[in-house]
Amino acid sequence: MQQESRKGIWTLAVRGKMELKFICPECKHSQITSVERVWAEIPITAIRKDGDLDYGEPAFGNGQPEWFECANCHYVLKDENGENITDNSKVVEWVKKNCKGSK
Ligand SMILES: [Zn+2]
Repeated sequence: MQQESRKGIWTLAVRGKMELKFICPECKHSQITSVERVWAEIPITAIRKDGDLDYGEPAFGNGQPEWFECANCHYVLKDENGENITDNSKVVEWVKKNCKGSK
């Protein structure tokens, strides 16, 4: 019993230090999405005479974020110049600035 509660406290302390929580200013949703353009390579497993193609499992290349948005209402994160944020470190800045008191 004692061990378990200690473990809980440790986890909370680490999470509090390492993680920031996104809260959408529009709808208060907490899921943020990185919208990225990626290459997908999809093997074609069959070429049918009627023009239909059968596909295998796609493989995705590394993407670059095009923008970050709320997963619920698609609110797009903007920097101080009103430009879409495309940089992970700017997401950190944005969350620090805009999600205070969200805990
Ligand atoms: Zn939202």
